[in-house]
Amino acid sequence: MGDLMKIFNTRTGSKEDFIPQDPFEVKAYVCGPTVYDLCHVGHARTYINFDVLKRYLISLGYRVTHVQNFTDIDEKIDQRAKKEGLSPREVAERFIREYFFDMDSLNVMRATKYTRASEYVPKIIKITERLLELGYAYRSGNTIYFDVEAAGGFGELVKDLKETIVGEIRVQGKRGPFDFVLWRVTGEGFDSPFGRGVPGWHTECVAMSMDTLGETLDIHWGGKDLIYPHHECESLIAKALTGKRFVRYWVHNDFVLIEGEKMSKSSGGKAYIRDILKKYPAEVLRTWILRSNYRTKIEYSEESLEEARVLYEKMRKAAAKSRGKEEMGQCAKDFAATFMSALDDDLETGEALSAVEELSDLILEREVEGAWRIFSLVETILGIKLHTPP
Ligand SMILES: [Zn+2]
Repeated sequence: MGDLMKIFNTRTGSKEDFIPQDPFEVKAYVCGPTVYDLCHVGHARTYINFDVLKRYLISLGYRVTHVQNFTDIDEKIDQRAKKEGLSPREVAERFIREYFFDMDSLNVMRATKYTRASEYVPKIIKITERLLELGYAYRSGNTIYFDVEAAGGFGELVKDLKETIVGEIRVQGKRGPFDFVLWRVTGEGFDSPFGRGVPGWHTECVAMSMDTLGETLDIHWGGKDLIYPHHECESLIAKALTGKRFVRYWVHNDFVLIEGEKMSKSSGGKAYIRDILKKYPAEVLRTWILRSNYRTKIEYSEESLEEARVLYEKMRKAAAKSRGKEEMGQCAKDFAATFMSALDDDLETGEALSAVEELSDLILEREVEGAWRIFSLVETILGIKLHTPP
């Protein structure tokens, strides 16, 4: 192995050499979906991008322990349950099944372990009690809040909160404007020493990641919208509990835009994976997502998907033409090196695919000795199945 892989760490705002705690194992936690609806193309991007990082790390020889959660305690789940005459659990179970259906179609490797917030309530309660003991939490009325200032304030990921956050509301009973909920007594939900209620979202991920992976994670991945408040709050809770660094590399992928706007839960413009797959093969959707670096915004449009389809068909044709067993000649070796060094450089999947496109053009004109090996990298690392006959 030559140089180390570089990955962009949101904490430092720069590309860093990737060095996990254990030289053989990478511990990664990915924030999973809130299970009240089908997955849209934004979810596809988050999980496909992480999937490629994982596949790449495996190809470098690491064992990747990947834990991912389902947020199955949420008002939106309760609302949908009420509307459909189901229990919240039935709604959550349904959308967990739908999640697996979509991600399996997209060839996203399964996590080592999936956790559900609802199964971690006793651990979440323990954490909340501990934070109260340590003086990092306080009760006000029916809510237990985390005391941001007592814990040293934000700053792990968000450098200037005042500039970033507009309109944080002062709620009566909160000591500081950014204090967040650890437990809310609602009379419904889960029994706890604080009263029957529900936990705050941020504690859930701390409980699940620390329980499964330990006090320090190598990678914590999520969509960019999770940087604040979710990941900033997770980080502060964890540090208050252990005094240690919680995450070595915070990695965030950018949004998918539709007609210039971020797909949000409130707007109508959602492109569900399932609907896209009625028009395009999963391999084309994957190709489309991987044509851009995970840290750039991408605009969802039929034209750009059509472009990805053309590229995919070209790769497939070239892969079929180059199937064989011969060793790589110099030309193929050069392309393989370009492919791998693109991924080494903060997972530049777009550049890796450009190299494959160039190679495909070449193959459609002439023979390239051993080129099949590069298409096998496309399949194993980029996870784009080329369906070449054996
Ligand atoms: Zn999370």
